[in-house]
Amino acid sequence: MASIQRTIIMQTLQEMRTHPTADEVYQQVKKRLPNISLGTVYRNLNQLVREGFAKRLGHAGEQTRFDANTDKHYHLICDTCGRIYDLAFNQISEINALMQNIDEHDVADYDLEFYGTCKVCKQLEKKHENA
Ligand SMILES: [Zn+2]
Ligand SMILES: [Zn+2]
Repeated sequence: MASIQRTIIMQTLQEMRTHPTADEVYQQVKKRLPNISLGTVYRNLNQLVREGFAKRLGHAGEQTRFDANTDKHYHLICDTCGRIYDLAFNQISEINALMQNIDEHDVADYDLEFYGTCKVCKQLEKKHENA
């Protein structure tokens, strides 16, 4: 049973490209497993992160979000609606070259976030301007 739950949680996270919170994953999983608890979903998500099948996106003061895309990629966070989008461009190789040893620290990884207005909000703003 535990592994069925886990499989469905993983599938759900992969289908959701919105970088959902544990609660948002739970709302979706519940449609297929009505008896599942938020705690179980949360535990499984954290386990998937530990095993490298998902990534955790954390922002101070915000709920943890989860990402099934574990390939190196960058995010655009919309200042207007707060949605997180994957940005379709390749790794910035200059950063990789700079990364190894900074101030005598061994830097192993990094996250880059871009902020702006997403395409959905841009469309909405345009409509407002034309109205
Ligand atoms: Zn937006
Ligand atoms: Zn992502």
